[in-house]
Amino acid sequence: MKNRVAIVTGGASGIGRATVLALAEVGASVLIADVDEAGGQEVANEVTEGGGKAEFLATDVSDAGQVKAMVARAQGAFGGLDLAFNNAGVEGDQANLADQDMARVQRVFDIMINGVYLAMQSEIPAMLEGGGGAIVNMSSMWGLAGYPEKSAYITAKHAVSGMTKSAALEVAAQNIRINAVAPGPILTPLLLRGWNGDPSPQVGRVPMRRIGRPEEVAYAVRWLLSDEASFVTGHIMPVDGGMLSEKG
Ligand code: NAD
Repeated sequence: MKNRVAIVTGGASGIGRATVLALAEVGASVLIADVDEAGGQEVANEVTEGGGKAEFLATDVSDAGQVKAMVARAQGAFGGLDLAFNNAGVEGDQANLADQDMARVQRVFDIMINGVYLAMQSEIPAMLEGGGGAIVNMSSMWGLAGYPEKSAYITAKHAVSGMTKSAALEVAAQNIRINAVAPGPILTPLLLRGWNGDPSPQVGRVPMRRIGRPEEVAYAVRWLLSDEASFVTGHIMPVDGGMLSEKG
């Protein structure tokens, strides 16, 4: 991926951070976009101290102006835009749909639906300027299946799956591929917050009988962004230790 320019939203932590490191490892220049300024700058420093290229830009992906500025910064800093991982997300509240607070639901939608949609709106024209590119959006296994008491999160992730397929078809003939990943449980701060710091009771629900590591999603994202995935578009790829297969 030498000379490729990538954006990773939510790159300060968890799966986003692992993907920044995986892309930088193979020579990509990476713009890290996140609301977490200290964490994002730390990941950028980690890359540059290791001899790679990365910059951090404080970005709230739910803000259209900040998302436009994010794409402009990648172009300005590194000379274009080839790759994007639209990954930033939050867990949302745990409650039955009828009991969800609508202002808090809207914030989940703003970050995970509008955030990915707005990102693609700016990324696609930037990639067309350079003759093409590849995008991976962060869905979830809960973007393909339902689960009780997490309807805000699950609604948002289903929306990501839908916009991924739709946008992929629009640009399929213009050398832009758009896919999504659909992880199962992955050991990150988000997952630990959801399970009060202890994911061990959940392990039995995973056919592989373990929680995934952020790197295991990062490598799938890196492959989908690479030329090795050149005939793959509109695909929602589970990275879930077999959980969706068990659901049939
Ligand atoms: P994480 O909390 O470690 O990382 C999420 C990152 O997104 C953080 O750095 C956070 O600051 C950033 N972020 C939050 N709101 C933002 C905003 N408005 N603008 C910009 N950045 C923002 O969690 P993670 O598990 O690595 O989550 C990354 C993505 O993976 C999320 O979309 C999540 O829904 C998805 N996902 C996670 C799992 C899992 O089990 N961990 C499974 C499936 C999908």
